[in-house]
Amino acid sequence: MTDTQIPAETASAPVYSVVQERRVVTAIPGPRSQELHARRAKVVSAGVSSALPVYIERANGGILVDVDGNQFVDFGAGIGVTTVGHTEQRVVQAAADQLQDVVHTLFTITPYEEYVRVAELLAEHTPGNWEKKSVLVNSGAEAVENGVKIARKFTGRRAVAVLDHAYHGRTNLTMAMNYKAHPYATGYGPLAGDVYHAPSSYPYRDGLSGADAAARTITYLEKVVGASDLACLVVEPIQGEGGFMVPAEGFLPRLQAWCTEHGVVMIADEIQSGMARTGRYYASEHFGWEPDLVLSAKGIAGGLPLAAVTGRAEIMDASQPGGLGGTFGGNPVACAAAIAVFEAIEANHLLAESERIGARLKAGLERLAQRYDVIGEIRGLGAMIAIELVQPGTGQTTRLPNPDAVASLIAYAAQHGVLFLSAGTFGNVLRFLPSLAVSDALIDDGLRVLDDGFAALG
Ligand SMILES: *Cc1c(COP(=O)(O)O)cnc(C)c1O
Repeated sequence: MTDTQIPAETASAPVYSVVQERRVVTAIPGPRSQELHARRAKVVSAGVSSALPVYIERANGGILVDVDGNQFVDFGAGIGVTTVGHTEQRVVQAAADQLQDVVHTLFTITPYEEYVRVAELLAEHTPGNWEKKSVLVNSGAEAVENGVKIARKFTGRRAVAVLDHAYHGRTNLTMAMNYKAHPYATGYGPLAGDVYHAPSSYPYRDGLSGADAAARTITYLEKVVGASDLACLVVEPIQGEGGFMVPAEGFLPRLQAWCTEHGVVMIADEIQSGMARTGRYYASEHFGWEPDLVLSAKGIAGGLPLAAVTGRAEIMDASQPGGLGGTFGGNPVACAAAIAVFEAIEANHLLAESERIGARLKAGLERLAQRYDVIGEIRGLGAMIAIELVQPGTGQTTRLPNPDAVASLIAYAAQHGVLFLSAGTFGNVLRFLPSLAVSDALIDDGLRVLDDGFAALG
Protein backbone atom coordinates (compact mmCIF):
# COMPACT_ATOMS: atom_id res chain seq x y z
CA MET A 1 0.00 0.00 0.00
CA THR A 2 2.87 2.37 0.82
CA ASP A 3 4.12 2.25 -2.77
CA THR A 4 0.71 2.88 -4.21
CA GLN A 5 -0.28 6.35 -5.24
CA ILE A 6 -3.81 7.04 -4.08
CA PRO A 7 -5.71 8.72 -6.92
CA ALA A 8 -6.88 12.24 -6.06
CA GLU A 9 -10.59 11.36 -6.36
CA THR A 10 -10.20 8.48 -3.94
CA ALA A 11 -8.13 10.49 -1.48
CA SER A 12 -10.80 13.18 -1.16
CA ALA A 13 -13.82 10.87 -1.43
CA PRO A 14 -15.82 10.68 1.79
CA VAL A 15 -15.27 7.56 3.88
CA TYR A 16 -18.45 6.02 5.26
CA SER A 17 -18.68 4.01 8.47
CA VAL A 18 -22.01 2.56 7.35
CA VAL A 19 -22.37 0.82 3.98
CA GLN A 20 -24.45 3.18 1.84
CA GLU A 21 -27.25 0.80 0.98
CA ARG A 22 -30.84 -0.02 1.85
CA ARG A 23 -31.36 -3.16 3.90
CA VAL A 24 -34.63 -4.48 5.34
CA VAL A 25 -34.12 -7.44 7.69
CA THR A 26 -37.27 -7.37 9.87
CA ALA A 27 -40.85 -6.20 9.61
CA ILE A 28 -41.00 -2.39 9.94
CA PRO A 29 -41.01 -1.44 12.77
CA GLY A 30 -38.97 -4.39 14.01
CA PRO A 31 -39.30 -6.06 17.44
CA ARG A 32 -36.75 -3.88 19.25
CA SER A 33 -38.29 -0.70 17.86
CA GLN A 34 -41.69 -1.91 19.01
CA GLU A 35 -40.33 -2.52 22.52
CA LEU A 36 -38.88 0.97 22.64
CA HIS A 37 -42.12 2.40 21.35
CA ALA A 38 -44.02 0.77 24.20
CA ARG A 39 -41.56 2.25 26.72
CA ARG A 40 -41.85 5.64 25.08
CA ALA A 41 -45.64 5.61 25.24
CA LYS A 42 -45.41 5.48 29.03
CA VAL A 43 -43.06 8.43 29.49
CA VAL A 44 -43.03 10.70 26.42
CA SER A 45 -45.79 13.25 25.93
CA ALA A 46 -48.42 12.32 23.37
CA GLY A 47 -47.96 15.84 21.96
CA VAL A 48 -44.62 14.73 20.50
CA SER A 49 -45.21 12.62 17.40
CA SER A 50 -42.91 10.44 15.26
CA ALA A 51 -43.50 10.01 11.53
CA LEU A 52 -41.77 6.62 11.41
CA PRO A 53 -41.41 4.89 14.80
CA VAL A 54 -38.22 2.98 14.09
CA TYR A 55 -35.59 3.79 16.70
CA ILE A 56 -32.27 4.83 15.22
CA GLU A 57 -29.00 3.53 16.59
CA ARG A 58 -26.53 4.88 14.03
CA ALA A 59 -26.55 7.18 11.06
CA ASN A 60 -23.92 7.96 8.46
CA GLY A 61 -23.94 9.69 5.09
CA GLY A 62 -27.40 9.14 3.64
CA ILE A 63 -28.32 6.06 5.71
CA LEU A 64 -30.14 5.52 9.02
CA VAL A 65 -29.61 2.22 10.87
CA ASP A 66 -32.32 1.18 13.31
CA VAL A 67 -32.05 -0.94 16.45
CA ASP A 68 -33.18 -4.03 14.51
CA GLY A 69 -30.44 -3.64 11.90
CA ASN A 70 -32.63 -2.22 9.13
CA GLN A 71 -30.98 0.42 6.95
CA PHE A 72 -33.11 3.25 5.58
CA VAL A 73 -32.26 5.54 2.69
CA ASP A 74 -32.93 8.89 4.30
CA PHE A 75 -34.69 11.46 2.10
CA GLY A 76 -35.51 13.63 5.11
CA ALA A 77 -32.16 14.36 6.78
CA GLY A 78 -34.03 15.27 9.99
CA ILE A 79 -35.95 17.85 7.92
CA GLY A 80 -32.96 19.26 6.13
CA VAL A 81 -30.65 19.33 9.15
CA THR A 82 -27.90 16.84 8.33
CA THR A 83 -27.34 18.52 4.99
CA VAL A 84 -23.60 17.76 5.03
CA GLY A 85 -24.40 14.08 5.73
CA HIS A 86 -25.11 12.14 8.90
CA THR A 87 -22.09 12.07 11.22
CA GLU A 88 -19.94 13.92 8.70
CA GLN A 89 -16.34 13.26 9.78
CA ARG A 90 -15.19 16.86 9.81
CA VAL A 91 -18.18 17.97 11.90
CA VAL A 92 -17.89 15.06 14.34
CA GLN A 93 -14.17 15.73 14.83
CA ALA A 94 -14.65 19.47 15.35
CA ALA A 95 -17.39 18.91 17.93
CA ALA A 96 -15.37 16.20 19.72
CA ASP A 97 -12.29 18.45 19.88
CA GLN A 98 -14.38 21.32 21.20
CA LEU A 99 -15.85 19.07 23.92
CA GLN A 100 -12.31 18.55 25.20
CA ASP A 101 -11.51 22.27 25.23
CA VAL A 102 -14.54 24.12 26.53
CA VAL A 103 -18.22 23.16 26.51
CA HIS A 104 -19.86 26.24 28.01
CA THR A 105 -19.02 29.63 29.46
CA LEU A 106 -22.02 31.66 28.26
CA PHE A 107 -21.02 34.12 25.58
CA THR A 108 -22.70 36.99 27.47
CA ILE A 109 -20.42 36.35 30.46
CA THR A 110 -17.05 35.29 29.03
CA PRO A 111 -16.93 35.05 25.23
CA TYR A 112 -14.95 32.73 22.94
CA GLU A 113 -13.64 32.78 19.38
CA GLU A 114 -15.97 30.16 17.84
CA TYR A 115 -19.04 32.40 18.22
CA VAL A 116 -17.22 35.27 16.52
CA ARG A 117 -16.04 32.97 13.71
CA VAL A 118 -19.60 31.75 13.03
CA ALA A 119 -20.78 35.37 12.84
CA GLU A 120 -17.95 36.15 10.39
CA LEU A 121 -18.92 33.17 8.20
CA LEU A 122 -22.60 34.20 8.26
CA ALA A 123 -21.69 37.79 7.32
CA GLU A 124 -19.66 36.44 4.41
CA HIS A 125 -22.18 33.90 3.07
CA THR A 126 -25.59 35.51 3.56
CA PRO A 127 -26.89 37.60 0.63
CA GLY A 128 -26.17 41.33 0.49
CA ASN A 129 -22.87 43.12 0.22
CA TRP A 130 -23.06 45.30 3.32
CA GLU A 131 -21.88 45.32 6.91
CA LYS A 132 -23.70 42.54 8.78
CA LYS A 133 -23.96 41.37 12.35
CA SER A 134 -25.45 38.26 13.98
CA VAL A 135 -26.95 36.90 17.16
CA LEU A 136 -26.77 33.14 17.78
CA VAL A 137 -29.60 31.20 19.41
CA ASN A 138 -30.70 27.56 19.76
CA SER A 139 -33.59 26.85 17.43
CA GLY A 140 -35.35 28.06 14.34
CA ALA A 141 -38.34 29.36 16.26
CA GLU A 142 -36.01 31.28 18.55
CA ALA A 143 -34.35 32.85 15.50
CA VAL A 144 -37.79 33.92 14.20
CA GLU A 145 -38.71 35.38 17.61
CA ASN A 146 -35.44 37.32 17.73
CA GLY A 147 -35.79 38.53 14.15
CA VAL A 148 -39.19 39.99 15.05
CA LYS A 149 -37.86 41.54 18.28
CA ILE A 150 -34.94 43.13 16.44
CA ALA A 151 -37.21 44.51 13.69
CA ARG A 152 -39.69 45.94 16.21
CA LYS A 153 -36.91 47.62 18.17
CA PHE A 154 -35.35 49.10 15.04
CA THR A 155 -38.61 50.37 13.54
CA GLY A 156 -40.49 51.22 16.74
CA ARG A 157 -43.52 49.56 15.10
CA ARG A 158 -45.79 46.76 16.31
CA ALA A 159 -47.20 44.68 13.43
CA VAL A 160 -45.73 41.48 11.99
CA ALA A 161 -46.70 40.10 8.57
CA VAL A 162 -46.22 36.61 7.18
CA LEU A 163 -47.49 34.81 4.08
CA ASP A 164 -50.16 32.19 3.59
CA HIS A 165 -48.82 28.60 3.82
CA ALA A 166 -45.95 29.78 6.05
CA TYR A 167 -44.40 27.78 8.87
CA HIS A 168 -42.25 29.54 11.47
CA GLY A 169 -42.26 27.39 14.62
CA ARG A 170 -44.03 26.24 17.77
CA THR A 171 -43.28 28.94 20.37
CA ASN A 172 -45.96 31.39 21.44
CA LEU A 173 -45.21 34.07 18.84
CA THR A 174 -44.35 31.67 16.02
CA MET A 175 -47.53 29.58 16.52
CA ALA A 176 -49.43 32.71 15.52
CA MET A 177 -47.22 33.08 12.43
CA ASN A 178 -48.05 29.65 10.97
CA TYR A 179 -50.72 29.19 8.33
CA LYS A 180 -51.96 25.91 9.79
CA ALA A 181 -53.66 26.26 13.15
CA HIS A 182 -53.89 22.49 13.37
CA PRO A 183 -51.83 20.90 14.84
CA TYR A 184 -49.55 23.80 15.72
CA ALA A 185 -51.88 26.17 17.60
CA THR A 186 -55.13 24.34 18.32
CA GLY A 187 -55.99 24.76 21.99
CA TYR A 188 -52.79 26.68 22.86
CA GLY A 189 -54.23 30.20 22.71
CA PRO A 190 -54.44 33.04 23.32
CA LEU A 191 -52.01 33.54 20.46
CA ALA A 192 -49.74 36.56 20.05
CA GLY A 193 -51.54 39.51 18.48
CA ASP A 194 -50.60 41.86 15.65
CA VAL A 195 -49.66 39.04 13.29
CA TYR A 196 -51.12 39.34 9.77
CA HIS A 197 -51.29 36.65 7.09
CA ALA A 198 -50.91 38.07 3.58
CA PRO A 199 -51.41 36.20 0.27
CA SER A 200 -48.33 34.36 -1.05
CA SER A 201 -47.11 33.33 -4.51
CA TYR A 202 -48.13 29.74 -5.34
CA PRO A 203 -47.82 29.51 -9.13
CA TYR A 204 -49.29 26.01 -9.43
CA ARG A 205 -52.51 27.10 -7.76
CA ASP A 206 -52.82 30.85 -8.32
CA GLY A 207 -51.33 31.11 -11.82
CA LEU A 208 -50.14 34.66 -11.06
CA SER A 209 -46.94 36.28 -12.32
CA GLY A 210 -44.49 37.47 -9.65
CA ALA A 211 -45.55 41.07 -10.27
CA ASP A 212 -49.26 40.31 -9.91
CA ALA A 213 -48.75 38.13 -6.83
CA ALA A 214 -46.60 40.86 -5.22
CA ALA A 215 -49.24 43.50 -6.02
CA ARG A 216 -51.86 41.34 -4.32
CA THR A 217 -49.65 40.90 -1.22
CA ILE A 218 -48.85 44.61 -1.06
CA THR A 219 -52.52 45.60 -1.38
CA TYR A 220 -53.31 43.35 1.55
CA LEU A 221 -50.50 44.83 3.67
CA GLU A 222 -51.47 48.41 2.84
CA LYS A 223 -55.19 47.93 3.43
CA VAL A 224 -55.28 45.49 6.33
CA VAL A 225 -52.17 46.56 8.28
CA GLY A 226 -50.86 49.89 6.96
CA ALA A 227 -47.18 50.22 6.12
CA SER A 228 -46.51 52.76 8.89
CA ASP A 229 -47.49 50.21 11.57
CA LEU A 230 -45.63 47.29 10.02
CA ALA A 231 -42.32 46.32 11.68
CA CYS A 232 -41.46 43.35 9.49
CA LEU A 233 -42.52 40.97 6.76
CA VAL A 234 -41.19 37.45 7.35
CA VAL A 235 -40.97 35.22 4.25
CA GLU A 236 -39.54 31.79 3.44
CA PRO A 237 -37.97 32.13 -0.05
CA ILE A 238 -39.15 28.56 -0.72
CA GLN A 239 -41.86 27.58 1.74
CA GLY A 240 -40.88 24.44 3.65
CA GLU A 241 -43.75 22.84 5.58
CA GLY A 242 -46.17 24.64 3.25
CA GLY A 243 -45.03 22.43 0.37
CA PHE A 244 -41.86 23.75 -1.29
CA MET A 245 -43.63 26.45 -3.30
CA VAL A 246 -41.14 28.26 -5.49
CA PRO A 247 -42.47 31.82 -5.83
CA ALA A 248 -43.01 33.31 -9.28
CA GLU A 249 -40.10 35.28 -10.73
CA GLY A 250 -39.85 38.80 -9.35
CA PHE A 251 -42.20 38.23 -6.39
CA LEU A 252 -39.56 38.47 -3.66
CA PRO A 253 -37.53 41.45 -5.01
CA ARG A 254 -40.78 43.42 -5.47
CA LEU A 255 -41.79 42.81 -1.88
CA GLN A 256 -38.30 43.81 -0.73
CA ALA A 257 -38.50 47.04 -2.76
CA TRP A 258 -41.87 47.87 -1.19
CA CYS A 259 -40.52 47.10 2.30
CA THR A 260 -37.44 49.26 1.74
CA GLU A 261 -39.58 52.14 0.47
CA HIS A 262 -41.78 52.01 3.56
CA GLY A 263 -39.18 51.31 6.23
CA VAL A 264 -40.39 47.74 6.82
CA VAL A 265 -37.71 45.17 7.74
CA MET A 266 -37.97 42.21 5.36
CA ILE A 267 -36.79 38.97 6.92
CA ALA A 268 -35.87 35.80 5.00
CA ASP A 269 -36.72 32.69 6.98
CA GLU A 270 -34.02 30.47 5.40
CA ILE A 271 -34.22 27.96 8.23
CA GLN A 272 -35.12 25.12 5.85
CA SER A 273 -33.91 26.52 2.51
CA GLY A 274 -30.50 27.84 3.60
CA MET A 275 -27.04 26.33 4.17
CA ALA A 276 -26.42 24.87 0.68
CA ARG A 277 -29.78 23.10 0.52
CA THR A 278 -30.75 24.61 -2.84
CA GLY A 279 -27.34 24.75 -4.51
CA ARG A 280 -26.57 28.21 -3.10
CA TYR A 281 -25.69 29.09 0.46
CA TYR A 282 -29.10 30.78 0.72
CA ALA A 283 -32.12 30.24 -1.55
CA SER A 284 -32.77 34.00 -1.69
CA GLU A 285 -29.84 34.22 -4.10
CA HIS A 286 -31.82 32.32 -6.77
CA PHE A 287 -34.38 35.11 -6.83
CA GLY A 288 -32.04 38.09 -6.70
CA TRP A 289 -33.41 38.86 -3.25
CA GLU A 290 -31.17 40.57 -0.69
CA PRO A 291 -33.15 40.49 2.57
CA ASP A 292 -32.56 42.92 5.46
CA LEU A 293 -32.30 40.00 7.90
CA VAL A 294 -31.66 36.29 7.26
CA LEU A 295 -32.58 33.47 9.64
CA SER A 296 -30.45 30.29 9.65
CA ALA A 297 -30.98 27.13 11.66
CA LYS A 298 -31.64 23.55 10.56
CA GLY A 299 -28.58 22.72 8.41
CA ILE A 300 -26.16 25.14 10.03
CA ALA A 301 -24.37 22.82 12.47
CA GLY A 302 -24.68 19.33 10.99
CA GLY A 303 -27.26 18.25 13.57
CA LEU A 304 -26.20 20.22 16.63
CA PRO A 305 -28.68 22.84 17.86
CA LEU A 306 -27.74 26.29 16.59
CA ALA A 307 -29.58 29.12 14.87
CA ALA A 308 -28.85 32.69 13.89
CA VAL A 309 -30.28 36.04 12.96
CA THR A 310 -27.92 37.82 10.57
CA GLY A 311 -28.45 41.14 8.90
CA ARG A 312 -27.81 44.80 8.33
CA ALA A 313 -25.56 46.12 11.09
CA GLU A 314 -27.73 49.17 11.79
CA ILE A 315 -30.81 47.00 12.36
CA MET A 316 -28.96 44.41 14.46
CA ASP A 317 -27.34 47.15 16.59
CA ALA A 318 -30.62 48.90 17.46
CA SER A 319 -31.08 46.49 20.38
CA GLN A 320 -29.78 47.51 23.81
CA PRO A 321 -27.01 45.40 25.44
CA GLY A 322 -28.63 42.52 27.29
CA GLY A 323 -31.76 42.62 25.13
CA LEU A 324 -30.69 39.63 23.05
CA GLY A 325 -29.11 36.28 23.95
CA GLY A 326 -29.76 33.35 26.26
CA THR A 327 -27.98 30.73 28.32
CA PHE A 328 -27.16 28.25 25.57
CA GLY A 329 -27.21 30.52 22.50
CA GLY A 330 -24.09 30.02 20.39
CA ASN A 331 -22.84 27.10 22.49
CA PRO A 332 -19.11 26.45 21.74
CA VAL A 333 -19.66 22.85 20.58
CA ALA A 334 -22.48 23.84 18.24
CA CYS A 335 -20.36 26.74 16.93
CA ALA A 336 -17.37 24.46 16.30
CA ALA A 337 -19.68 22.13 14.37
CA ALA A 338 -21.06 25.04 12.35
CA ILE A 339 -17.56 26.18 11.38
CA ALA A 340 -16.89 22.61 10.21
CA VAL A 341 -20.13 22.65 8.22
CA PHE A 342 -19.01 25.76 6.32
CA GLU A 343 -15.67 24.00 5.67
CA ALA A 344 -17.43 20.81 4.56
CA ILE A 345 -19.61 22.74 2.10
CA GLU A 346 -16.43 23.96 0.38
CA ALA A 347 -14.27 20.83 0.78
CA ASN A 348 -17.02 18.43 -0.37
CA HIS A 349 -18.27 20.79 -3.13
CA LEU A 350 -21.75 20.65 -1.67
CA LEU A 351 -23.24 23.49 -3.71
CA ALA A 352 -22.52 21.47 -6.85
CA GLU A 353 -23.62 18.24 -5.14
CA SER A 354 -26.94 19.85 -4.30
CA GLU A 355 -27.44 20.65 -8.00
CA ARG A 356 -26.45 17.10 -8.97
CA ILE A 357 -28.95 15.58 -6.55
CA GLY A 358 -31.74 17.96 -7.59
CA ALA A 359 -31.21 17.28 -11.30
CA ARG A 360 -31.20 13.52 -10.82
CA LEU A 361 -34.29 13.57 -8.60
CA LYS A 362 -36.18 15.85 -10.99
CA ALA A 363 -35.33 13.73 -14.03
CA GLY A 364 -36.47 10.57 -12.26
CA LEU A 365 -39.66 12.23 -11.00
CA GLU A 366 -40.44 13.53 -14.49
CA ARG A 367 -40.29 9.95 -15.76
CA LEU A 368 -42.72 8.93 -13.03
CA ALA A 369 -45.03 11.86 -13.85
CA GLN A 370 -45.41 10.53 -17.40
CA ARG A 371 -46.87 7.32 -16.00
CA TYR A 372 -48.75 8.47 -12.90
CA ASP A 373 -51.19 11.30 -13.48
CA VAL A 374 -51.64 11.94 -9.75
CA ILE A 375 -48.31 13.82 -9.90
CA GLY A 376 -49.63 17.34 -10.43
CA GLU A 377 -46.37 19.26 -10.19
CA ILE A 378 -42.66 18.68 -9.63
CA ARG A 379 -40.95 21.71 -8.13
CA GLY A 380 -38.03 22.95 -6.08
CA LEU A 381 -34.42 24.04 -6.40
CA GLY A 382 -31.23 22.08 -5.77
CA ALA A 383 -31.78 19.29 -3.27
CA MET A 384 -35.07 20.81 -2.05
CA ILE A 385 -37.53 19.03 -4.35
CA ALA A 386 -41.18 18.10 -3.98
CA ILE A 387 -44.08 16.60 -5.89
CA GLU A 388 -47.63 17.80 -5.32
CA LEU A 389 -50.19 15.00 -5.71
CA VAL A 390 -53.74 15.51 -6.96
CA GLN A 391 -56.78 13.28 -7.38
CA PRO A 392 -56.67 11.13 -10.53
CA GLY A 393 -57.93 13.00 -13.58
CA THR A 394 -57.95 16.46 -11.93
CA GLY A 395 -54.42 17.55 -12.93
CA GLN A 396 -55.68 19.73 -15.78
CA THR A 397 -58.80 20.99 -13.99
CA THR A 398 -59.51 21.37 -10.27
CA ARG A 399 -56.23 19.89 -9.02
CA LEU A 400 -57.93 18.42 -5.98
CA PRO A 401 -55.33 17.62 -3.31
CA ASN A 402 -54.55 13.95 -2.77
CA PRO A 403 -53.17 13.53 0.77
CA ASP A 404 -54.14 9.83 0.85
CA ALA A 405 -51.73 9.04 -1.97
CA VAL A 406 -48.91 10.79 -0.10
CA ALA A 407 -49.68 8.84 3.08
CA SER A 408 -49.77 5.55 1.14
CA LEU A 409 -46.49 6.24 -0.66
CA ILE A 410 -44.73 7.14 2.59
CA ALA A 411 -46.04 4.00 4.29
CA TYR A 412 -45.06 1.83 1.32
CA ALA A 413 -41.55 3.31 1.18
CA ALA A 414 -41.05 2.88 4.93
CA GLN A 415 -41.86 -0.83 4.63
CA HIS A 416 -39.19 -1.04 1.93
CA GLY A 417 -36.45 0.88 3.72
CA VAL A 418 -36.87 4.40 2.36
CA LEU A 419 -37.77 7.43 4.48
CA PHE A 420 -39.81 10.11 2.70
CA LEU A 421 -41.48 13.10 4.37
CA SER A 422 -44.79 14.74 3.63
CA ALA A 423 -45.47 18.48 3.50
CA GLY A 424 -48.11 20.87 2.28
CA THR A 425 -51.04 22.76 3.70
CA PHE A 426 -53.27 19.95 2.39
CA GLY A 427 -50.81 17.16 3.26
CA ASN A 428 -50.56 16.30 -0.44
CA VAL A 429 -46.89 17.07 -1.02
CA LEU A 430 -44.06 14.54 -0.91
CA ARG A 431 -40.76 16.30 -0.24
CA PHE A 432 -37.19 15.23 -0.86
CA LEU A 433 -34.57 16.74 1.44
CA PRO A 434 -31.71 14.22 1.32
CA SER A 435 -28.33 14.89 2.79
CA LEU A 436 -25.96 16.18 0.14
CA ALA A 437 -23.88 13.04 0.65
CA VAL A 438 -26.38 10.76 -1.12
CA SER A 439 -24.96 9.00 -4.16
CA ASP A 440 -26.75 8.66 -7.51
CA ALA A 441 -27.18 4.97 -6.67
CA LEU A 442 -29.11 5.79 -3.48
CA ILE A 443 -31.28 8.33 -5.30
CA ASP A 444 -32.09 5.83 -8.04
CA ASP A 445 -32.85 3.18 -5.45
CA GLY A 446 -35.24 5.53 -3.66
CA LEU A 447 -36.93 6.42 -6.95
CA ARG A 448 -37.36 2.72 -7.77
CA VAL A 449 -39.14 2.13 -4.47
CA LEU A 450 -41.28 5.21 -5.13
CA ASP A 451 -42.18 3.85 -8.57
CA ASP A 452 -43.30 0.57 -6.97
CA GLY A 453 -45.24 2.59 -4.41
CA PHE A 454 -47.11 4.45 -7.17
CA ALA A 455 -47.84 1.15 -8.91
CA ALA A 456 -49.21 -0.22 -5.62
CA LEU A 457 -51.65 2.72 -5.37
CA GLY A 458 -53.60 0.95 -8.12
C1 LIG B 1 -38.18 24.19 11.04
C2 LIG B 1 -38.52 25.59 10.71
C3 LIG B 1 -38.69 26.58 11.68
C4 LIG B 1 -38.63 26.26 13.16
O1 LIG B 1 -37.39 25.77 13.54
P1 LIG B 1 -37.23 24.94 14.92
O2 LIG B 1 -35.76 24.74 15.05
O3 LIG B 1 -38.00 23.69 14.75
O4 LIG B 1 -37.79 25.80 15.97
C5 LIG B 1 -38.95 27.86 11.27
N1 LIG B 1 -39.03 28.18 9.97
C6 LIG B 1 -38.87 27.27 9.00
C7 LIG B 1 -38.94 27.68 7.57
C8 LIG B 1 -38.62 25.93 9.33
O5 LIG B 1 -38.49 25.02 8.37
